[in-house]
Amino acid sequence: IQRIGVLTSGGDAPGMNAAVRAVVRKGIFHGLTIFGIHRGYEGLIHGELQEMSIGSVADIVLRGGTVLKTARSEEMKTPAGQKKAFEQLQKRQIDALVVIGGDGSFRGAQTLAAQGVRIIGIPGTIDNDIAGTDLTIGFDTAVNTVVDAVSKIRDTASSHDRTFIVEVMGRNCGNIALQAGLACGAESILVPEIPYDLDEISNKLKRGHQRGKNHSIILVSEGVGSAFKVGEELRARSGFETRITVLGHLQRGGNPSALDAVIAAAMGGKAVQSLLDQETNRMTAYINQTVISRPLDDAYGTRRPLNRELYDLANELSI
Ligand code: ATP
Repeated sequence: IQRIGVLTSGGDAPGMNAAVRAVVRKGIFHGLTIFGIHRGYEGLIHGELQEMSIGSVADIVLRGGTVLKTARSEEMKTPAGQKKAFEQLQKRQIDALVVIGGDGSFRGAQTLAAQGVRIIGIPGTIDNDIAGTDLTIGFDTAVNTVVDAVSKIRDTASSHDRTFIVEVMGRNCGNIALQAGLACGAESILVPEIPYDLDEISNKLKRGHQRGKNHSIILVSEGVGSAFKVGEELRARSGFETRITVLGHLQRGGNPSALDAVIAAAMGGKAVQSLLDQETNRMTAYINQTVISRPLDDAYGTRRPLNRELYDLANELSI
């Protein structure tokens, strides 16, 4: 390989820039030409490619979001769109592509692999919902952001003696809620993977109240449903006033944590190394604190189940 394209696709995540920087700089270090593709597959289809230099990734390593921009592209899901995307690469003799995003983005990459492009996927999403890797880029930062926000909400909850229901992101994956909930001592954590009992949660609130505890934090993963609905039902059952906070998109922003920045750099470097080693259809993965390359199909395998032991512990700690 001589010429590599790199793009970010799907939802943005803190650390994507550190990964882009690593791909560009390691590629140039090894004498390759690197093209940055703007706006994911949408930009690729429309020819928004630009040769990157060492300087074009200066000063982005700790910046949130993605300087390449990201997009969702319906056209890329059609054979015509996939052909256009391939032709844009062909026109510039780009023979390999590094895709930073979620499993949808990886599927898009595989349509290009079928046309002869070498591809490597880097898992980037705050949801940590990709199989084959212990961590995705952005998850650690998002958990830290939630912990920071909840610690502020707790100040108000305790000053006003209130029950706060906080809805956090994660799609169908309760990892953000579980990790953040344990870290900040939430009284209850609702995740989509494990059934919950609102009567039991309500009884817990009442028990707490009887021993003089007047405020509580309940974390609701978005995959469970609306925090407003949970709040209403708990108020009806317990009689306590509830306040709802939906943290929303602030969870996707911010500088990456050191852990995310390190994983992102290591994954960007591993992706280029993988291509230098003539690999294709691979993903980078963080396994046992090491970044490795493995078959891209592993991203669609069975996800590591939610850590039940941590979930049970969180319950025991919030009796
Ligand atoms: P996130 O988890 O952050 O949403 P994602 O990569 O899973 O990331 P998607 O919206 O599923 O996000 O996919 C991103 C883009 O990848 C889509 O907009 C589309 O262009 C492309 N894509 C997704 N699935 C396919 C597919 N089956 N075939 C071709 N392209 C696809």
